[in-house]
Amino acid sequence: MNIDRLWQDLLTSAAIGPGNDGGLSRLALTDADKVMRDLFVGWCRAAGCTIRIDKTGNVFARRDGVNNALPPVLIGSHLDTQIVGGRYDGVLGVLAGLEVVRTLNDNNFETQRPVEVVVWTNEEGVRFQPPMMGSGAFARVHDTGWVLAQTDDDGLTFGDELCRIGYAGTDEPAPQHYDSYFELHIEQGPVLDAEGVHVGIVTGGFTSHGAKIQIRGENAHSGSTSMTQRRNALVGAALVIAKVNDIGWMFQPDGRAACARVDVLPNKYGILPHWAEITVDVRHPETKTAQVMYGRVLDFLPIAAAEANVTISVAKEWRFGGIEFDTKLVNLIRTVSAELGVSHRHLLSAAGHDAYHLARAIPAAMIFTPCRDGISHKRS
Ligand SMILES: [Zn+2]
Repeated sequence: MNIDRLWQDLLTSAAIGPGNDGGLSRLALTDADKVMRDLFVGWCRAAGCTIRIDKTGNVFARRDGVNNALPPVLIGSHLDTQIVGGRYDGVLGVLAGLEVVRTLNDNNFETQRPVEVVVWTNEEGVRFQPPMMGSGAFARVHDTGWVLAQTDDDGLTFGDELCRIGYAGTDEPAPQHYDSYFELHIEQGPVLDAEGVHVGIVTGGFTSHGAKIQIRGENAHSGSTSMTQRRNALVGAALVIAKVNDIGWMFQPDGRAACARVDVLPNKYGILPHWAEITVDVRHPETKTAQVMYGRVLDFLPIAAAEANVTISVAKEWRFGGIEFDTKLVNLIRTVSAELGVSHRHLLSAAGHDAYHLARAIPAAMIFTPCRDGISHKRS
């Protein structure tokens, strides 16, 4: 492989949709996402690949094999980033897949199977929720029509935005046509960097429960309304936010729980809010424990509603993870790491990845690279 070429591509990507402090802010289906996709497609065509796009905008770049009747090996990740994203999250996995193709070309190496490099749409879930939508549609975890109908904060739909940037393809999801899936990703945690280990062999992922919770109260004057008459939606939200954090602490050392977003209306001084919406994110390596944690969140909603004199409902729910990666592929990665003399260890992923959805449809595996101090997203 040509490490300088891969590095140059990463630097080129790092200038498209620039964010804070040298990072990226390349949200799914924005103009910057289109520019990066166009660039990637151009690079793949230059490497001799043919391009195919499916109905949720996943891009497949194919390098033919000797026997094209064999199911291809799929390699990829995502090109969208968090709003305060880093340069390598997702991008590394896609560009490493392209580097595999270029290296095969450089060596005039013919593979038996075709190799395809894939870009999954909206992995991050910043603009449209839930995360990992394109891979979810591909693996038939999500219905394609449902994915296309999801809206962002401005009411724009996933489907319309996909058309606008020119990536509304026609191919149906067809995971059964593939042999296996590999995803290279930064660890987004401190383990590999702290231990000085170069290759993380991911054996599985935390089970994650996500939800949007809506709280409805009533507008009222914040001075003239007596405490007994108040129906302050923000109070209901605050009670749930604090409880979710408590639940994370109750399930240490492995539990993770957070409300990362709150929206309030009308959000003005002097007016008790009539509406609030929060997102809940609960994770644990044990699927059953993650369910118990999420169950505690749900059990608390009527309690918070009664205390704040509001109504609270679950507007949207999703779940991912709780998978084990394919044993044969995990063993293959370990064997190759040992043969190459590269330090390696097994570990679990706490973050969500497209590979989770793929693992439900075809044999899948993930390789983690270290990231300095375990940081993946920019902190400012
Ligand atoms: Zn990622």
